[in-house]
Amino acid sequence: MQSSLKTNIPSSLNSKNNNRIRVGRSSAGLGLFATDFFKKNERIVEYIGKRLTNKEVDEIKENRYLLEINSKYTIDGSSRSNIARYANHSCKPNAETDTISGRAYIIAKKDIKAGDEIVWNYGKEYFNDFIKKNGCMCVSCVNNRSDAFGAAPVTL
Ligand SMILES: [Zn+2]
Repeated sequence: MQSSLKTNIPSSLNSKNNNRIRVGRSSAGLGLFATDFFKKNERIVEYIGKRLTNKEVDEIKENRYLLEINSKYTIDGSSRSNIARYANHSCKPNAETDTISGRAYIIAKKDIKAGDEIVWNYGKEYFNDFIKKNGCMCVSCVNNRSDAFGAAPVTL
């Protein structure tokens, strides 16, 4: 893991926002939480890691922390120094990822309050490969499932 750390690009945003986010317990294991207010469209954290060409990505068997930044490059965000990797998937997200000048960020999709979990939609491909078989653990899906359980079938 040391070798991948060396290739991380230092992120001034992550140093600046270090005290505005924290890793904590969530419905899906660990998650990323806001400890401060983030305004809609504000950059929260940079998704850092080694840059791989999409050809190199094809040679990797399984890695849940790949973020494609354009048609040529993908970031391998599996390093623990990449705090952005703790942000979980949600089907009703409050954040999204975007690439700005070749760097990937998690950006507030709406106003986020201190204490809120920061979640974004990982996309259809990831959902089908990793989430679908065990059921989605996002708050929205967990609530939907408990509603379905709660509604007893009407017998005549
Ligand atoms: Zn879900």
